[in-house]
Amino acid sequence: MSNLALNMQLKSKLPGVSTTIFTVMSQLAAQYKAINLSQGFPDYECSPQLVELVSKYMRSGYNQYAPMAGILSLRERLSEKQEKLHQAKYAPDTEITITAGGTQAIFTSIACLIRPDDEVIIFEPAYDSYSPAVTLFGGLVKPVELSAPDYKIDWLQVAKLINDKTRMIILNSPNNPTGRTLAEEDMLELIRLTRDTSILILSDEVYEHLVYDGIKHLSVSHYPELWERSFITASFGKLLHTTGWKVGYCLAPEWLMKEFRKVHQFEVFSVNSAVQYAISDFLQDERNYLEISDFFQTKKDFFLNLMLETRFDMLPCQGSYFQSVQYSRISDEDDTALAMRLVKEFGVACIPVSAFYSKGTDHQVLRFCFAKKQETLEKAVTYLAKV
Ligand code: GLN
Repeated sequence: MSNLALNMQLKSKLPGVSTTIFTVMSQLAAQYKAINLSQGFPDYECSPQLVELVSKYMRSGYNQYAPMAGILSLRERLSEKQEKLHQAKYAPDTEITITAGGTQAIFTSIACLIRPDDEVIIFEPAYDSYSPAVTLFGGLVKPVELSAPDYKIDWLQVAKLINDKTRMIILNSPNNPTGRTLAEEDMLELIRLTRDTSILILSDEVYEHLVYDGIKHLSVSHYPELWERSFITASFGKLLHTTGWKVGYCLAPEWLMKEFRKVHQFEVFSVNSAVQYAISDFLQDERNYLEISDFFQTKKDFFLNLMLETRFDMLPCQGSYFQSVQYSRISDEDDTALAMRLVKEFGVACIPVSAFYSKGTDHQVLRFCFAKKQETLEKAVTYLAKV
């Protein structure tokens, strides 16, 4: 360690945080030349039409700052889409902001609200960015642990956690990593528990269009009592197979969006302009987002059928592009140990789901991403069948 580092005795703001499990597993996959079903991103191309649109806008000189909140036509598209699909109204000028990906939208929602000692209820297993963002602003994470195989929320347990300090509840449906979706009764419980309180909701709906077997995504925006207290975050990376473009958005009623933008403007100021124009054009054809769920249903079914040949046991997957599995027929080792062995000895990288619990709770579950080409999935399962 350098002298400066020693002298400053820097006290980390996030002492418990190391490199994200996604980075760790993707690096291991590269190192061991394994098939990477760990980090959630497609290994196939996005629509050539979309790439063409981005190039067109870049060539036509759309290369300077976009407005801070995002280009208006894209916000208008999102407003129309939210109204059509969820009967929820968001004013493009005051209630929608384009962000640098879903994770920034999550971070900013937390940053603009959470103060020291505010309590934030999180359902675990949870996407790994929620808790560090809360901690960074002095908030206290109150985890509600959900268990395999059905990961159902016990709302009585949630009710017991709620007190005067509860500032926010973070939801994620369809859920990463479990693939579970919230049902109508969950929404009604949430309405009941938050009524007459000042609790706000952060609803991460990034997998909104990735729902299967006839399930309908329930957005908090559909329920007026939740709409008025919620930030909704999402990403075009997941919707359009463009995770590398890092463009997402946040929807919230004006009084919340006002605070969101105060932080957003100093965090990123604004987001890639040519990409926003291109996405705005592309979303004019609603098939470009409505057909996504059929596209992924095929992938999910394909992967699931192949996996039946292995000794892994499939957990239910109602949404997202992740299939979770248990492995009691294979081993009793912990999930991280098995994930390490899979990447090193069998050539397939996945994510151990204990990484999504603040206490590292291990239900011996692994998460595989099926947003991959057929041949990638086929090859991966040939390797997994040997386990
Ligand atoms: N959301 C993706 C996943 O869960 C990746 C996010 C990331 O790498 N930060 O795998």
